[in-house]
Amino acid sequence: MLTTDKNSFIHFDDGIVSALTKIVGKNNIITDLEGIYAYSFDCAHIPFDKNYPKVVVIPQNTQQVSEILKIANKRRIPVIARGAGSNHAGGCNPVKGGIIIHFSQMNKILEINNQDLTCKVQPGVVVGDLQRAVKGIGLFFPPDPSNLAVSTIGGGIALCSGGPRAFKYGTFKDYVLDLEVVLADGTIIRTGSQTVKNVTGYNLTQLIVGSEGTLGIVTEATLRLIPAPETTNVMLAYFNTVENAVNAVSGIINNHLTPSVIDLIDKKTVQTIEHFYPNGLLCDKEAVLLIEIDGDSASVELQEKKIIQICTEYGAEKIDCAQDELQKQKIWTARRSAFGACAQLAPNVITEDVVVPRSKIAELTKGILDISKKYNLITMVMGHIGDGNIHPNFALDLRDKKQKNNFEKAKAELFKLAASLGGTLSGEHGIGCQKANFLPLVIDKTTLNLMIQIKKVFDPNYILNPEKML
Ligand SMILES: Cc1cc2nc3c(=O)[nH]c(=O)nc-3n(C[C@H](O)[C@H](O)[C@H](O)COP(=O)(O)OP(=O)(O)OC[C@H]3O[C@@H](n4cnc5c(N)ncnc54)[C@H](O)[C@@H]3O)c2cc1C
Repeated sequence: MLTTDKNSFIHFDDGIVSALTKIVGKNNIITDLEGIYAYSFDCAHIPFDKNYPKVVVIPQNTQQVSEILKIANKRRIPVIARGAGSNHAGGCNPVKGGIIIHFSQMNKILEINNQDLTCKVQPGVVVGDLQRAVKGIGLFFPPDPSNLAVSTIGGGIALCSGGPRAFKYGTFKDYVLDLEVVLADGTIIRTGSQTVKNVTGYNLTQLIVGSEGTLGIVTEATLRLIPAPETTNVMLAYFNTVENAVNAVSGIINNHLTPSVIDLIDKKTVQTIEHFYPNGLLCDKEAVLLIEIDGDSASVELQEKKIIQICTEYGAEKIDCAQDELQKQKIWTARRSAFGACAQLAPNVITEDVVVPRSKIAELTKGILDISKKYNLITMVMGHIGDGNIHPNFALDLRDKKQKNNFEKAKAELFKLAASLGGTLSGEHGIGCQKANFLPLVIDKTTLNLMIQIKKVFDPNYILNPEKML
């Protein structure tokens, strides 16, 4: 792990706060304890002692971000970018204190270009707002990190977020054409171009995508849009074993069908959703596949028929297809309630994120349940099975030392299992400060060293999101 000398960061003084206040104005800076407390953690739910930022700044434009970074770099102050703080990897955790740049006011959709099928946005734009805005003119921005109401474009780019529709449409990386990025010393650069194709120079755009705010701060993005599908439908297929569900997915894919979503939800997750947010899901089957199909009406009808046939062949006990918009919404509401429902079971819920080749999903799922049993953990398994990406949700009380230790051991075994199946540590949630120690499991020493050299070129004083990723 790339570590920092604790003394390499200077002490914060009132002069720094006044300089930052001059840049963003007194209404856009937070220094009181109640205020900074809210920025001392994110959705990873791990309580770290004394990891408060010194100050939170809420800039209005790129120039202000640049001025903030010039001060931070000169004075060696850590800087952490923050969107909605909904990531699961501790990516916004101010491990070394410092300045949080919160993008809640850089949240404008600057342009939607109906001819080029592109849009230009600020990083604080909420993903769901962008989806709604482009849908109004028949366009589609597919990445959907499952919490559309809050997660931001900046967070999605920094993590290369995915979500259920990645199976057909890919993840954030497939939609980013150009970025405006402020480097650690305050320099403003552009990484790509406004064109859909571009092989001019190194692909800095894709280097920044997924870099978790450790190489630069994104202040504007040009994104690719696609025509919206004419219609969609969604169905639930229930199976008595996870293996049958996995085999049905292979059956669907081998028959050259490409649903927009193929998600797996296990029995414990369904039971928990139904307990807290009843939606009429069946609770006694081991696995349910949520399958969404899209296209023109004729194609959706045909796909639906074929998928019902394939799921039945692979042993589906029951298949429920939505009959109208209300039923579609009901199924999606149930799916999106999963995390909230799990969070009701214990003071903490930790969502993990491992990915394996799709053919290894059944082994991975069985392995996860075996590990949970060994360490006596309440675990709910769900995920984007079409991508081989599984999210076990662990409900536990981290104040209980035994549970915490058991979870740490289970987590280490989970990552080893994913690696042994030819998979890796994260499909879409990123590394943050939660998984940095485990990178050597899947990345060799030489490659890791190369990554550290890249970090040094972009951020020689190591101020950008320290202790994350590497
Ligand atoms: C219920 C629930 C379900 C979820 N489901 C999914 C899912 O299906 N798929 C998925 O991929 N994720 C999922 N997530 C995780 C999370 O929602 C996504 O990672 C999301 O994209 C994070 O966006 P955010 O605005 O909250 O980012 P934040 O959490 O604020 O930030 C994430 C990272 O990006 C960095 N960052 C933020 N803004 C910038 C910027 N402007 N420049 C540089 N770096 C920046 C931060 O420093 C941090 O490292 C889920 C989360 C929840 C709570």
